Amino acid sequence: MERIAVIGAGTMGNGIAHVFAQKGFKVNLIDLRQASLDRAIATITKNLDRQVKKELISEEDKQACLNNLSTHTDMPSAVSDRQLVVEAATERVDLKLQIFKDLDANAPKECILATNTSSISITQIAAVTNRPEQVVGMHFMNPVPVMKLVEIIRGYATSDAVTEKIMSLSRELSKVPVEVNDYPGFVANRILMPMINEAIYTLYESVAGVEEIDTVMMLGMAHPMGPLHLADFIGLDVCLAILEVLYEGFGNPKYAPCPLLVNMVRAGKTGVKTGEGFYVYNRETKEKSASPSFA
Ligand code: NAD
Repeated sequence: MERIAVIGAGTMGNGIAHVFAQKGFKVNLIDLRQASLDRAIATITKNLDRQVKKELISEEDKQACLNNLSTHTDMPSAVSDRQLVVEAATERVDLKLQIFKDLDANAPKECILATNTSSISITQIAAVTNRPEQVVGMHFMNPVPVMKLVEIIRGYATSDAVTEKIMSLSRELSKVPVEVNDYPGFVANRILMPMINEAIYTLYESVAGVEEIDTVMMLGMAHPMGPLHLADFIGLDVCLAILEVLYEGFGNPKYAPCPLLVNMVRAGKTGVKTGEGFYVYNRETKEKSASPSFA
């Protein structure tokens, strides 16, 4: 396998394109607007510069990686000769179903269609294609170039051969794949999101402030990042979307998103990507300080 396409050039898409290109794959990175693609290439370049500075890679490695990347806004032509497509577009069911219908119509029939969805059913996505056995979840963690885990999710119809191919491809990317079955939130977000939601409820009910909640979890539970900071980093809109899938999928009120999370997303305060969530972020350095809303 050498020709890959990544759909969506946001937080995750640029990281996924980065790791494939760095391992020598030819990557077509696809988004709706050229401006999003330009931003993604700027982010990848900045991350490669950091790797060069830390002497993890050479200047030539950086150039080779960038040369393996090309950007596209016309999805049909950009997937027409691909062997694998990894979809990392916005976490919305209707959007993903439409993308997979379009991919099925435009990608070669042997092409594997993977999705980086955090929580949406792989089985539901696969069902809109004529190749459900070739549809699989490939759930990378954020930030993709740094995090080792890839959750590989088998839909109801995903074949053994496709699962094995994606497991071994993940190892080629120097990642550690873990195979799981297709139920709401899979494993990672079924466990993580209720914890984040509970941290937001703890703030909402004024049990403690933002810094206090994060400090308890970092120093008390040895988490490298507090849950509220992590939620900002993931994107509060993404967290809300995942909780809604868990809530609907299990029909259990324990997954109901905290009203504070809902309000923050409605107000456009979605975390690092918009510059404000539970903390305020410096656009350049991503350093955080107390948010005026919670100070
Ligand atoms: P994001 O909002 O940062 O980026 C989404 C990108 O998709 C945007 O650039 C948008 O323009 C693009 N897009 C939307 N519709 C498109 C279409 N039809 N064609 C091409 N591009 C389109 O979102 P993100 O955080 O990168 O999340 C992407 C996916 O990865 C989601 O499914 C999310 O659940 C999953 N995910 C996110 C994280 C995280 O920490 N943010 C972690 C793991 C998985």
